[in-house]
Amino acid sequence: MGTKIKKIAQDTFMLTYTPMGVNQFLLVGEQKALLIDTGYGKGGLDKKLKKLTSLPLIAANSHLHPDHSNGNFLFESVFVGEADLPERGMPSNDLARGVADYYLHNSRIPKALIGKILKLGLMRPGQEKYLPLEDVVELGGRSVKVLPCPGHTPGSCLFLDENTASLFAGDAINGAFWAFTSPQTNLKEYAEVWESLKPRLQGVKRLWISHHRAPLDAGYIDAFIKALRTAGAGECKLVGIKGTPEQVNIYKVKDEKFGTLTFWAYPSQVR
Ligand SMILES: [Zn+2]
Repeated sequence: MGTKIKKIAQDTFMLTYTPMGVNQFLLVGEQKALLIDTGYGKGGLDKKLKKLTSLPLIAANSHLHPDHSNGNFLFESVFVGEADLPERGMPSNDLARGVADYYLHNSRIPKALIGKILKLGLMRPGQEKYLPLEDVVELGGRSVKVLPCPGHTPGSCLFLDENTASLFAGDAINGAFWAFTSPQTNLKEYAEVWESLKPRLQGVKRLWISHHRAPLDAGYIDAFIKALRTAGAGECKLVGIKGTPEQVNIYKVKDEKFGTLTFWAYPSQVR
């Protein structure tokens, strides 16, 4: 029914909303369970969760983007990195509206289609209550550490589960990293954010990310940091998307082990 379940470790599940290929993760403890991201809340997510655990659920978002948080309506309260709390303004909604507005006035794309795409791209907080994530989420016999990692959004957080040597990273690291979603992010400064997190990530073996079903090897972190430091010096391609405050570029960096890493960023972010 649209949501695929995969057991990825003991008491740990990946739920993928297949039409959009976006993952949510369920970590079950002795007393509570943690859901990292709520996706679009579609594909029978609530029913699948009930099948996997009868424990009280703590819902959290790795960051407040629609593909990670539009299922928040299924819960009474949701935890999110403090800087991403909806009352801070949801800057990615402004970005989505800016792009939609451009195509509405400068293209022949039907208004209804633009509206449909925009609906997917907007955050729509409802009745649910938003609370800032704390340093640790206690599940009973399983403590999941929360590590702020500002970059993809100001409030992006990583979830470190020492029980399974796993890091759940949302969109904070991947082979196509979007920096333009948070214009104040500078890639070189973001490299330092990851560098400073490294001592806490020593035992991590796998990185689970939101838009790829296979985990990344822990060695990817070093390759990512190195690439963040050199992006801008090499090959770069313009993205055709219009209506953004600056032109988005794709900065490419080749890594011997992991292939090409790309960074979607404004020129002002790679200086
Ligand atoms: Zn995102």
